[in-house]
Order: sequence, then structure tokens, then C-alpha cells
Amino acid sequence: MDPAALWKLSYGLYAIGTLDGRRPTGCIVNTVVQITSEAPTIALSMNKENFTYEAIKKTGRFAVSILSEQTSPNVIARLGFCSGRDTDKFSGNIFQWEEFDGLPIVRENAAAYFTASVLAMHAMETHVVILARVENTKSGTDYTPMTYKYYHEVIKGNAPKNAPTYRAPATTTDKWVCGVCGYIYDGDLSKEKDDFVCPICQQPKNVFKRS
Ligand code: FE
Repeated sequence: MDPAALWKLSYGLYAIGTLDGRRPTGCIVNTVVQITSEAPTIALSMNKENFTYEAIKKTGRFAVSILSEQTSPNVIARLGFCSGRDTDKFSGNIFQWEEFDGLPIVRENAAAYFTASVLAMHAMETHVVILARVENTKSGTDYTPMTYKYYHEVIKGNAPKNAPTYRAPATTTDKWVCGVCGYIYDGDLSKEKDDFVCPICQQPKNVFKRS
């Protein structure tokens, strides 16, 4: 079996928001699909290690913000590369958000929003598939929804290790990791200009550490 065949599947980028008690928390997923159109149901895939999964199990509800090509990479850095266990992801003005239907949504040029209530969950080896009924929708910007391919090729973002599309990086002699968001820079970072910033979280060169 050649796993590369599966790399041709298409994915998007979605901010999932839910509540840990009264505290908003969330994560980034790349797999959300509509299953039925009447009384719409959706399915999403999430790593079982995600703190957001634990919160959704308790609240039974979550919001989906469909990120666009104009969404700040900081949203992905903050929600996708930190854990809600030790980070208040929605604090500190890293990105704009608001409450919709009692759940946190990301107001950073997102293309659309919806809230959903959990119908069923099925745990697989590493991930859980969540089936949910759409409760409410809200329109967003007209910007093109971000695909995973765009994120990977234009923003040059990597999948966090717990994403279903994570690929182990090719072995190179020189590798630098952003201390803020985990972005991996392959090659000699010293050859970059002094004003180089992390393409994901926009932090300067000095936050990178050689791995
Ligand atoms: Fe970064």
C-alpha cells in the first residue's frame, strides 16, 4: 500500500470552538464534511488526545468557523499548535472571536460559521469521528475557504503531529523549530534575512531553535 495515494484527498481548515465549563477552548481540524442535507448532519475527525474532544464530550456542542485564505495564520498557530490543557487559547487578543449561540467563533475573515450538537461519536485508532446535527448558521466573508493544500503550499504550514494528514518530515541535516507554534523550517535559517518571520505565527527569527 502506498500512503501517498491518500495525500490526494482534499481537506479544509476549520476552527472548532467549544466550552470547557465556561471557558472557551478549541482547536483546528482539517476534516469536516456534510453528510446529509435535510436536517443537515456533518462529520468531523479529531485526534483523541485533543483537549477539545474532552470538552465536546461534556458539552455535546461545538461551533465550526470555516477559515478563509485571508484568515490570519495566528489563528492556526494558536488553536492548532498549542493545547487547551495549558493555554487559554481564546485569551490575549491573538485573534478576534465572539460568541455565537453560546459558543466561541473566530472572527478573522472566516467564510461562514455553524453550531452543531453531537449525535454520535466513533473512536478509531488515533482519531474520533463525531457526527453532529447543524443547529444554527451564520454568514461570514466572501473570501475563498482555505483548503489544506493552500495552507500547505502558499502559507507553507505543516500539520501538527496529531492531524490526520500529518506526515513525518523528510530527514534533513538542518532543521529549526518555531518556539511559538511548532512550525518546522527545513534548511539553514541563518541564510534568511534578519526580518524573516515565522510564516505561521509571524514571530521573529530568534524564537526558532535548532532541533
Ligand atoms: Fe511560529
